[in-house]
Amino acid sequence: MGALRERFWERPLADLNRAEWEALCDGCGRCCLHKLEDEDTGEIEETNVACRLLDCSTARCSDYPNRKAFVPDCLQLTPSLAGKLPWLPETCAYRRRAEGEPLPRWHYLLTGSREDVHLAGAGAAGRVISETKAGPLEHHIVEWSD
Ligand code: SF4
Repeated sequence: MGALRERFWERPLADLNRAEWEALCDGCGRCCLHKLEDEDTGEIEETNVACRLLDCSTARCSDYPNRKAFVPDCLQLTPSLAGKLPWLPETCAYRRRAEGEPLPRWHYLLTGSREDVHLAGAGAAGRVISETKAGPLEHHIVEWSD
């Protein structure tokens, strides 16, 4: 996996080792929520409906190592993809670094607390419902305060 180098999050995404790449995630859980795309305009709307594997109380994947076996279309984020996915939240550390932006000031690598993403209102913990219970996505459109 490799060791975490000092202030590794300031390096280009392509320079990060596996451990650094994984550590960059702030744990917001919002990439694990369903989105709706307008067929005509391409506009993307977010919902509060989570992938079946997301623990809705913590916003962490309940089976991250084996997630592909249960959710085959779960996307594997890569350095080249990180800046090309408009549905990633603007606060996503991968998206921000791909766009040359610094981490959000509440990111746990800066503050030392993994709770800060949720205290800042950027995380999904306690604010989402599983797709196994939600019903139609159209009833669950939400706006997050990026
Ligand atoms: S949106 Fe980005 S920072 Fe948030 S959980 Fe997904 S990969 Fe991690």
